[in-house]
Formats: sequence, structure tokens, C-alpha cells
Amino acid sequence: MAEPKENLQMEKIVSLCKRRGFVFQSSEIYGGLNGFWDYGPLGAELKRNVKELWWHAMTRQRDDVAGLEATIIMSPKIWEASGHVATFSDPMIDCKTCKGRFRADQTDEIACPQKPSKCVNECHGEKTEARAFNLMFQTYVGPTATAADIAYLRPETAQAIFAQFKNVLETSRQKVPFGIAQVGKAFRNEVTPRNFTFRSREFEQMELEFFIKPDEVIEAIHGSVATVPETGHPGEPQPNWGWQAWHHYWVEERVRFYEGIGLSRETLGFHHQTPAELAHYARACTDILFKFPFSKKDAAGNVIGDELEGIAARSDFDLSQHQRFSGKPMGVFDDELRAAWAKLPKEKQDDLWKRYYDHRKNYLTKSAKPDETPEQISQQATNDANGLAKGQYIPHVIEPSAGVDRLILALIANAYSEVTETDDKGKSETRVTMKFHPRVAPIKVAVLPLMKNKPEIVQKAEAVRALLRPWMNVFYDEAGSIGRRYARQDEAGTPFCVTIDFDTLGEKPELLDTVTLRYRDDGKQERLKISELLDFLLSKTR
Ligand code: ATP
Repeated sequence: MAEPKENLQMEKIVSLCKRRGFVFQSSEIYGGLNGFWDYGPLGAELKRNVKELWWHAMTRQRDDVAGLEATIIMSPKIWEASGHVATFSDPMIDCKTCKGRFRADQTDEIACPQKPSKCVNECHGEKTEARAFNLMFQTYVGPTATAADIAYLRPETAQAIFAQFKNVLETSRQKVPFGIAQVGKAFRNEVTPRNFTFRSREFEQMELEFFIKPDEVIEAIHGSVATVPETGHPGEPQPNWGWQAWHHYWVEERVRFYEGIGLSRETLGFHHQTPAELAHYARACTDILFKFPFSKKDAAGNVIGDELEGIAARSDFDLSQHQRFSGKPMGVFDDELRAAWAKLPKEKQDDLWKRYYDHRKNYLTKSAKPDETPEQISQQATNDANGLAKGQYIPHVIEPSAGVDRLILALIANAYSEVTETDDKGKSETRVTMKFHPRVAPIKVAVLPLMKNKPEIVQKAEAVRALLRPWMNVFYDEAGSIGRRYARQDEAGTPFCVTIDFDTLGEKPELLDTVTLRYRDDGKQERLKISELLDFLLSKTR
């Protein structure tokens, strides 16, 4: 049977990744470890560029976001408060015959069309009932390795942000609305790692928790909550934005980010989670999808895409949970609210008080510990709503949460382009060009002396490399014909090649100290002065 086209495409991508040093199987010499991947020389550069661009866009280019770098292992209480110990699990099923292990919620991908309830692992054996399997990797802290020493490798970076919320608030001099950003490793013992790096067991996340005022607080201060158009970027943030406007803003900001690194809107898709899909505390969640070669199609034949990033409006759930579990206050004090509240008419105060009370009661009821009584819950909700008059509230949060590895895979799939050419003798050759956006490209420029046995040319080329190197990743290559060297750089995704030749040395005096600049995507060449090279390359690669 012929291989489906999309699988062939993935095979080509996986093979290029290994051949050119983007991604290797972890522990390959020992047969590999399922769900773990290493990034080779080109992959490591690509990944670093992506993380730095994210960090730059999310923190340094904004006044309202501060950074954090927390530990991977944290107090296990964090994962009790977040709900991960109790509920971070996938339903797992086993095949009784072949012992294959699958996720019950992904049976459409694994079930045999003839015998849907049977294992597809060729044997068509009977399957067990689904059982919950917690995805957190467990370890022990300290030498005794007793139950009291159990700790977890973090399954997401977000929780550290909530746990350190107060410290960041106090040291960064930020005020709500503001965000805390973090990039780092996360670990999930996925039942079925698959689709190359898409679902790995060790991966990296880039997460922002953007803390906002509850809508009741906005209404108290500004009279009403602003609405923004449902499509398009809503523009600069406004003080009277509520959670919907902020959520919409972050979806659009994130799409802009993807467009800025070469993923056009056409390559992306969106999934707006339905009420049934949403966590009980979440108000909305929009997943940004990328159309991978393995992504499924809808009934009309359009590729749907798979999740790159989720942008969730998580209400005040996370900070509230940590407040309850740690006993430490997670709320903020807002002078503007206190002053505005005092001036509100009594009916407005009552209306806002009641809405805030209902929200808090709803949260407290749904998250109640077994020993909490309805009276205690009502009392706590009353205290919380009374806090408004004193200028106190627990911030709500919008969470854009992206996976680095999925984005790398999307960038690689998006960049992959091949041309097959047949020569006069009928011999055909397929040439691959990785059309990375220059901002993410692992190598920004290759410096190529036309000949390696002409010392003046080599010296000049080395001087050009020395000029560019402090600013960007430069690759110096003097081996092989110039055509082969260009082809090697095309495959690595290097957007620009610079060739130093006899004209650079002044063979044609008017071309003294100029180089040939070659563009990867169309092979066009032009002469550029060495003195203009750095500015040109910086303008294209940043
Ligand atoms: P999925 O439904 O695909 O398992 P998720 O909804 O559980 O993903 P989140 O918990 O929202 O994912 O994590 C945020 C981001 O982290 C995801 O959008 C994805 O980019 C990344 N991510 C999550 N799990 C993995 C994984 N196993 N391998 C690689 N990246 C992951």
C-alpha cells in the first residue's frame, strides 16, 4: 500500500532533522528513549532563537511584564493546590494480547476501523477498561526516599509563577494589570508520545500569566467594562478592559508573534474550547493550531491543525487555590478601587458586591475540601466581597501557554521546501531548502571565500567573519565548490551567503571591498559594500 502523502512528508522532515543536525533521538546509541529528543547543532540554535524572540517580545519590549526563572522541582504542595496531583491524568487502556498501551480518548487514532473496540497493534486483541494514569514524573527529594519525600518534575512552568506572584509583585514594582513570563522545561509522562517531537515526555514551555482586575473592579472604577471588536487586533491595552478584551488581545498578540517569525495566518488555525471542554473555572480558551503534515482534515477536506499554544482566561482560580492551600494572602490592594467604591451609589455597590460574592461562592463550592461546610464557604465569599470596599481583590489571569518544541516542529515543517531537477542525462536530484524566517534561522549568514588557496581572499573572508560574529551566528565554509556550499546552506536554512572573491580584492577597482550577497529563497545575487553588510544583516535578522 502506498504511504499516505502526509506521512511521507513527516518522514522526509524527520530524516532531514537527523541528517542536518536539527533533532536527534535521545540516547540513540542505546536504542533511544521513547518521547525524548535532543537538539543538534542547528536545532539548538533554532530553539535558542525562538526562546529569545519570545522572551524579547513578551518581557523586554513591554513595560507590563516581568520575568521569572523558577526551579523544576518545587514543593509537592504546589501540585496539590493546582489540582495536578488529583486530576492531571489521561485515561489509559492496555491490549491484553500484545500489551500495547494507548490513550482511551484517542481511540479514533488508534482503533482498527473494522474492530473499533479492539487493539490496532496488528493483533486486534481485547482491551482493558480505561484507568486514570497521572502524567507527573515522580522523584524523591533527599536520601531516605520515603512517601514523605515524594516530589514531582513540574508538568508545566505556570504554577511557579502563581507561587511567586507576591514576590514578583513586590520586587518588580508592577501593578495589576501586569504579567509574569517564564521559559523552561516541563515533563509529562505521556501515555503515547507521538508525531516526532509534537508530544514528548520532556519539553519546554514559554508561559505568560497576565494578571488583570476582575470585571466587577473595572466596573467599580470605570463605570463599565469596555468591549472590543471580535476580530482583528484590539490595539493598545486600555484601563477599562475586562477579561474578554484582554483574552482577545493576547490571542491577537500571539498570532502577531507567529506571523513575525514566518508562520502566516493561513498556516494557523483556531479552536475555541466549548463549555464542555473548558475547565470549570475557565471562562474561555482559544487554542492556536498549526497545520502540521500529520494534522487531520475536517469533513470538507480542510486541514484542522494541532495545538501550538493555548490562551486561557482562568479567572482567579490559580491564585485562590494557592491562597487556600498555603494560607498566605494572594490578593492585591488597589487604592483606585477603594476610592472609587466609596463614591459609588449604594445600588451599584450592592450589585457589584453580589456578583463578586456569587463568583467567589461558586469557586469556593466547586473547589471545596471535604471538611469545608456550606456555612464556611458563604462566610468566606462574604469576606471576599467585603474586601472590594477596602480595595482588595484576587487578580484574574489570562494565560498564553506555548510549547517551544511544537513551535520548532512547526517552523521546520513550514520551512521545508524541495525541488527535484533532472539533468540532460536524465539523472534527477532533489534539493531541499529550509526557508526559515531570518529571525529564527539557526545560521544568519555564511561567509564563503571563493578559493581556499588564495591567502588574500581567505584573510579578507576571515575579516568579514570577525566583523559579523559578535552580532550573529556566522558559518565559515571554504570546502567544496561554491555551488555545493550554497546548497549546504540552503539545507541548513541560512538566509544569506556572502562570497569573497577577486573583485573584493579590487580586481575591478570599482568593486573593491564589496562582496557577493546571495539570497537563499530565490538564489538572487547582488554586490554589497562590506561597510554596509552588518547593518543590512541586522535589519533582516532582528
Ligand atoms: P495537548 O492537549 O496537546 O496534550 P495540552 O492542552 O495538555 O496539550 P497545555 O497543558 O495547555 O497542553 O500546555 C501548553 C502547551 O505546552 C501546549 O500548547 C503545547 O505547545 C505544549 N505541550 C503540552 N504537552 C506537550 C508535550 N507532551 N510535548 C510537547 N509540547 C507539549
